[in-house]
Amino acid sequence: MEELAEFADIVKYNEPLARYTHLRLGGPADALIHPRSREELAAVVRRCFEKHLPLRVLGCGCNLLVRDEGVRGVVLRLSQSAFTEITVEGRRVRAGSGAALSAVISQAARHALAGLETLVGIQGTVGGSLRCNVGDRSGEIGQFVRRVEVMDGGGVVQVRERDELQFGYHASNLDDPVLLSAEFELEQDAADAIVKRMRKAWILRKASQPLTFQAAGRIFQNPRGLSAAALIEQAGLAKTRVGGAEVSERDANFFVVHAGATSRDVLRLIDLVRSRVLERFNVELELEITVW
Ligand SMILES: Cc1cc2nc3c(=O)[nH]c(=O)nc-3n(C[C@H](O)[C@H](O)[C@H](O)COP(=O)(O)OP(=O)(O)OC[C@H]3O[C@@H](n4cnc5c(N)ncnc54)[C@H](O)[C@@H]3O)c2cc1C
Repeated sequence: MEELAEFADIVKYNEPLARYTHLRLGGPADALIHPRSREELAAVVRRCFEKHLPLRVLGCGCNLLVRDEGVRGVVLRLSQSAFTEITVEGRRVRAGSGAALSAVISQAARHALAGLETLVGIQGTVGGSLRCNVGDRSGEIGQFVRRVEVMDGGGVVQVRERDELQFGYHASNLDDPVLLSAEFELEQDAADAIVKRMRKAWILRKASQPLTFQAAGRIFQNPRGLSAAALIEQAGLAKTRVGGAEVSERDANFFVVHAGATSRDVLRLIDLVRSRVLERFNVELELEITVW
């Protein structure tokens, strides 16, 4: 791709994305780019917008299914240290969008700062977690966010303050091309009380989700007032398998991916589950996982 010639040091062409996603599935990206600084990132973003190249950001790929055909255009990964720094000042924790959510939770706990600990066990980067407002009944990441830095299509950094931010069920209004960093405001608490809550949240999450499987992903949003897992289970679909993709027995809203599975298997299983749940309960399940 001529348009990216000046970024030769940081581009991998035709790079298989499966290894960068939790489900370990999917084809290659035309170009996978790992910028080393904000300046480099801004130059890539500007070039993509100028040349009308599709641009996507990949976090840990925990909420992502990449099609077997792969992805056209540019995929960015913010895994270099310029994008993963975590700093703590008083009750404020600032984290780069490429930092692992788990690292932010540990850092906060180490500074006796409470709030994020109930999210322990949720995998992903800060960027992906903000985009999807991760959480559960005990809390969501969005409630602790004070400010988010984003980059627009011109490569310009902008700051979104709390009063401009909206977080809903597995959604946010953070639809800028690139999320750069977030500042969380937490509450001071006794470190041992935080660790205790963390352990409890971890045990609860571990008990309900098929975390023992290397490759298992949450697939559907819970319809208003209902549980996607319960609907799928009541439709008799637990353990239903298409190719190498199987509805988890432990939590039917997770699909387990066995060796040899393809993205097509997962997509076919999604279609099957959706149509059976619609037939049985007249409920249309919406995808939680993003499909590229
Ligand atoms: C086993 C398991 C358990 C889970 N449990 C829960 C749970 O209890 N609660 C819950 O809410 N979720 C849960 N999830 C979902 C998942 O952990 C989150 O959605 C995750 O935080 C996504 O982060 P990521 O970095 O992996 O994003 P990705 O999957 O890589 O990307 C998700 C979306 O965010 C965008 N994105 C990522 N980073 C950026 C960025 N810097 N700038 C712009 N866009 C960006 C991507 O383009 C994509 O559209 C679970 C997932 C798994 C696999």
